[in-house]
Amino acid sequence: MDNMNSVRTRFAPSPTGFMHIGNLRTALYGFLFARARGGAFVLRIEDTDSERAVAGAVEVIYSTLRLAGLRYDEGPDIGGAYAPYVQSERRDIYRRYALELVDRGAAYYCFCSKEENQAAKTEEGYNRHCRSVSAAEVRRRLEEGCPYVIRQKMPLEGATAYSDLVFGTIEVENRLLDDQILLKSDGLPTYNFANVVDDHLMQISHVMRGSEYLSSTPKYVLLYRAFGWDVPNFVHLPLIMGKNADGSIAKLSKRHGATGFEELISEGYLPQAIVNYIALLGWSPKDDREVFALPDLAAAFDISGIGKSPAVFDYQKLNWVNGEHIKGLPFEEFCALALPFAQVQGTPLEARWTLIAALLQPRLHRFSQIPEMTGFLHRLPPYDAGLFANAKNKCTPASSAAMLAILLEKLTPLADWNAAVLHDVCAAAAQERGIKFGSMMWSLRIALSGLAVTAGGGIEIMTIIGKTETLQRIEEGLRKLKDCT
Ligand code: GLU
Repeated sequence: MDNMNSVRTRFAPSPTGFMHIGNLRTALYGFLFARARGGAFVLRIEDTDSERAVAGAVEVIYSTLRLAGLRYDEGPDIGGAYAPYVQSERRDIYRRYALELVDRGAAYYCFCSKEENQAAKTEEGYNRHCRSVSAAEVRRRLEEGCPYVIRQKMPLEGATAYSDLVFGTIEVENRLLDDQILLKSDGLPTYNFANVVDDHLMQISHVMRGSEYLSSTPKYVLLYRAFGWDVPNFVHLPLIMGKNADGSIAKLSKRHGATGFEELISEGYLPQAIVNYIALLGWSPKDDREVFALPDLAAAFDISGIGKSPAVFDYQKLNWVNGEHIKGLPFEEFCALALPFAQVQGTPLEARWTLIAALLQPRLHRFSQIPEMTGFLHRLPPYDAGLFANAKNKCTPASSAAMLAILLEKLTPLADWNAAVLHDVCAAAAQERGIKFGSMMWSLRIALSGLAVTAGGGIEIMTIIGKTETLQRIEEGLRKLKDCT
């Protein structure tokens, strides 16, 4: 089954309104594996649990896959040979197959009410009361129109095993398996049943999904066998964990940080960087590359690179990967994407946006850092004259005061205000005073920014804030330093 032409993977989300990064990783691996093998990637919406359905959730799935670049070959909105791809539109199909299983003796009608069920529940689940109801009695109750469900008839002895391509052999004792419901009293299938029927009918070759399904898969295997169908390859993916404040790890949740795709995007991560990072959560390439565009991921992806140990979501690492993708953006694109975060529209800095953007692009890890990194360009923050002291640059408040005075004198008459002119003027001033250029630039940059660390140096800051603002900030520095001269 696992040959070049037959690879068919699917992403089968339940529309619960939120795309957790675990779901996105499942989609991504399915997509990558299909692309790597020249196969097909299918989107199927599993919406038979109406209690969990959330309005608008299917749109979130579409938009996430679109933004992430995970183009599917078949799906609800684009059709395909196995349409429809929404389970609620396939209800007649499941009913037919449930009845077939009853005929084959692998499923049975159950007339127990929910209350009876609750009361008689065993450790394994349903107490199997209706397994022994005679065929004649079943017919009678059906004719009477009694409500019923259809349950899977689990073998009571032996064990069921399957081989997972990541986790190896998984085996459970059959007596521990619940006679689970396949068809509910409203005629809709349970997830457990619809999933198996559809994976078979849609000819899915590799079922990729979270490891929470690892232990229920033997039940599905029994269904495939009861129908006489080929069992697909199972590829369960390792858990995704988050790091707690004390260094221990726990299942990734909100308290670790953003866990949703849209949330990460609104925090200033690029979709392609999120996808790149998520690919590495549980899979590693054969070489030690870490920065990938989607086509490179597809070229490098293979199931043998998926590990079974839990993957830890590391926000620092995501920041780094995002920074690498930001650096790789064409400048125009960077400017357009960063602008909404920059808060320059309608301010005097709007006209200088490309200068600011040029400073930011090599330094950013996330777009949401932009307001903090650029705040000083809008307004000089309050600072203390002590900041002028810097041993490495041999600066003291007194030497800074002298430096700023001469800079003010040289910059005031300038008509041309551009980086080349400003550089020459500052270099000449430093030379005239017999001090190092770096030392002078330290004093200048503190006066211009009030900060020890800034994106960009003094020359760049002067070109951005302009002449009037530059002179005012130098004067302000001199005022702060007046007691030091
Ligand atoms: N609808 C299931 C979910 O969203 C799909 C699990 C599977 O891929 O089989 O978890």
